[in-house]
Amino acid sequence: MSYIDAHCHLGSHQFDDDRDEMINRMLSKRVDKAIIICCSKHDLGEGIRLRNQHSGFKLACGIHPQSVEPEDTTERFERFRKIVDECKPDMIGEIGLDYYSHPHTKEKQKEFFIQQLQLAGEYDLPVDIHSRKASADTLEILKKYPVKGIIHSYSGSVEMAALYIKLGYFVSFGASVLFPNAKRPAEVIRSIPLDRLLIETDAPYQSPVKDHRHEPEDVVNIYKVISQIKSISMAELENQVEKNYDRIFRSVSP
Ligand SMILES: [Zn+2]
Repeated sequence: MSYIDAHCHLGSHQFDDDRDEMINRMLSKRVDKAIIICCSKHDLGEGIRLRNQHSGFKLACGIHPQSVEPEDTTERFERFRKIVDECKPDMIGEIGLDYYSHPHTKEKQKEFFIQQLQLAGEYDLPVDIHSRKASADTLEILKKYPVKGIIHSYSGSVEMAALYIKLGYFVSFGASVLFPNAKRPAEVIRSIPLDRLLIETDAPYQSPVKDHRHEPEDVVNIYKVISQIKSISMAELENQVEKNYDRIFRSVSP
């Protein structure tokens, strides 16, 4: 059995000095399956190299909503399509809407989101969704363009999670469960069926500890908290999350 980090940026510049050591640390903790999210040329180059070296690693690439510029045209999307053709990712992501950090590019974000969902449908690939302060629009768009995928770093309500699940999505939880007094994530996790649950770090981001670079090996701590919230053993949780992960990549029909 493996622990899985369902969303991490292993190609990030923050790992440039010690990437191989970081990978060794995660493998020694049995975190040997991971989805490597690549949203820049640099990250993608490293991501491809890592996927070639480790059979448990999957490659995702996407135009991140935070990187969308007001002057972007469909040319940017066409360039992205070429990258997908060349790199043959296992997943499209992270893609979505971020009205919290980039409210001024709302309309452009929607355009790129829709185009990438259509591309995922066309290429029969699952998607990894980033949605911040944009759940109504995210849900409406996902309903119109049905594909299989993951809602990454979920931090919304019990009700919204149920709607994503109804659409066939998996819901992934990160380090927010580690914060003291994390009442809301616990309540939401309790409501998620075990066969729709995934776990991630978003490393090197979203560290629960100040000035600590988040690493995939830290995912084991998130598993621990979730196994307590769900009142199941670590082995049972590990087994179920691995089944869910394998299901994402087996077939795209929800
Ligand atoms: Zn991320």
